[in-house]
Amino acid sequence: MKSSVVRVPFVDLSFQHQPIKDDITQVLQSVVKRGDFVLGQALAEFETAFAKACNVKYAVGVASGTSAIAIGLQACGIGKGDEVIVPANTFIASVIGIIQAGATPILVDCELDTALIDLTAAAKLVTPKTKAILPVHLYGQMVSPQALLDFAQTHNLIIFEDSAQAHLATKEGYYAGSVGKAAAFSFYPSKNLGALGNGGMIVTDDEAVAKKARSLRNYGASQKYLHVELGTNSRLDTLQAAILHLKLPYLPDWNQMRNQAGEMYDRYFRKLAHPEIKPIQNYSDRGHVYHLYVVRLPDSLAERREQIQTALADAGIQSGIHYPIPCHLQPAFKYLGYQSGDFAHAETLSAQILSLPIFPGITKAQIELVCQQLLEAVNIIIKEGD
Ligand SMILES: *Cc1c(COP(=O)(O)O)cnc(C)c1O
Repeated sequence: MKSSVVRVPFVDLSFQHQPIKDDITQVLQSVVKRGDFVLGQALAEFETAFAKACNVKYAVGVASGTSAIAIGLQACGIGKGDEVIVPANTFIASVIGIIQAGATPILVDCELDTALIDLTAAAKLVTPKTKAILPVHLYGQMVSPQALLDFAQTHNLIIFEDSAQAHLATKEGYYAGSVGKAAAFSFYPSKNLGALGNGGMIVTDDEAVAKKARSLRNYGASQKYLHVELGTNSRLDTLQAAILHLKLPYLPDWNQMRNQAGEMYDRYFRKLAHPEIKPIQNYSDRGHVYHLYVVRLPDSLAERREQIQTALADAGIQSGIHYPIPCHLQPAFKYLGYQSGDFAHAETLSAQILSLPIFPGITKAQIELVCQQLLEAVNIIIKEGD
């Protein structure tokens, strides 16, 4: 039965915003009243609160997650002539940020079961030019901090975490963003902590890195109208900071709801669903903040992924693919010289993965409906193939 009604949206932000809509209005009015729209009081207050939440000393608000990577790397002293190792299966912004910093991205494969960076493969890519590793805490699950710290120590590298999908994720006693020299967060609206527009944050324990990031986001000014380095204009708007600060206290609960939804899906796929549908493995237990819930389809079904998505859509269920083309095969990066076959796991995953709806407020009934409809779509395809 075709239905134009969305029964399970991919993301539903109204659950977050409805209960605080009066507070949002009040916060907006107070910023308008104060009039400090750029580098205002609410930005400084949010930076302090966000740093504390991530268990780091400093936070520097910037205009986007992409900008947080570019400025954050530069603030760590990474630029022209430096190589930065980054997974091939990430959102393209991880790689764009490295290039914007002036450095050279060196792509690496991922592990099949977690979709996280393969540090064994990364070790083989280290050269005298390698300056940093940029692990991505993909889908809300952290790369093992201990493994990262061992890797960085062995090869004498800086760790710069892309935490854009992992606000307040934990593993081995670390918060995302607190493992390396610095880290980047995004506040794109659908991220675990989202602004009403764009936003990003650099976090670090290093005072000099924080200071340099503050300068770089503000035209490279060390004091007003004195520019000691080439900076840019990339500040987190005071208005967005005020909204994000309002939402921050709710984040632990929202993450917990995502974690519970992830666990519910996992249970379903373990017990009831087609044994060949494999969720991306959660090795972080409660520390996984499930920015996305991703399953792998067996190759026989992966070829028919579009058909499965259409069947889900017809049942009112939205789905996604994160990401359909790995970075090394993006036309924009052709000049980097990679080709098909270079990163087997990233390529396999890009063909197999399917992202199912997950957001704070998704109900048990919605999750069951998604699982049932996915199973039905899969069974129809299997029958057709017999
Ligand atoms: C969203 C995202 C970014 C970029 O953040 P923007 O705020 O959209 O610039 C970078 N890396 C990853 C892994 C992301 O998911």
